[in-house]
Amino acid sequence: MACRPNNYDSYGYDESRFESPVNDNFYCPICLNVIKDARMCHNEHIFCRKCIEEHLRVNAQRCPQCQERLTVSKLLPARFVNNLISKFKISCDHANRGCPEFVNVEDLERHVENCGFAPVLCSNERCDKEINKRDKIKHETELCEYRKILSHDFEEIREMFQKSFDQVKTLMVKINEKMDQDRTEINKKINDVSGQSTKEIMELKKEMMESKKEI
Ligand SMILES: [Zn+2]
Ligand SMILES: [Zn+2]
Ligand SMILES: [Zn+2]
Ligand SMILES: [Zn+2]
Repeated sequence: MACRPNNYDSYGYDESRFESPVNDNFYCPICLNVIKDARMCHNEHIFCRKCIEEHLRVNAQRCPQCQERLTVSKLLPARFVNNLISKFKISCDHANRGCPEFVNVEDLERHVENCGFAPVLCSNERCDKEINKRDKIKHETELCEYRKILSHDFEEIREMFQKSFDQVKTLMVKINEKMDQDRTEINKKINDVSGQSTKEIMELKKEMMESKKEI
């Protein structure tokens, strides 16, 4: 058994991801997963491209199965294996985030790129929540505690206050005007009354003077 490259888990496809059990011939002897992007030696020993390339670079320039001399440039694409595996149904990379899809291996990359369950970060300031791509808009506009709509609400409240403040101001101006008007009228009346009484008093005095004279 050859040395496994570091991170070997990420090389082939985990067998548990396939809808149906995979035939033993399609497993990579280096990573032990289902072969991804198959390459072979001239004796038709098959490996994942990444696995065998890394083995040839890091370990020895020999095939781990037949031990014959092998280099990266001598590797052959194993088309028949790739064609068969490309039709196997595999679960999405984001199955653990809720994606229920099984797609052909050949369509996996395209599906994952557009998958609604892919993790994305909320774009609202201060929120660093990771959410599913398909929930992004709903989260950002309705659920996020840092949602932008909040500042929208504040803006509305501010406008509402400004409006009522303006109304109160107009009302105060009207009341003041009315009071000024009333005050002027009252003063005028007082003046009228006092003016009249002065006139009456003068007349009375005059009358009294005249009657004194008569006496
Ligand atoms: Zn492999
Ligand atoms: Zn070989
Ligand atoms: Zn998906
Ligand atoms: Zn958020």
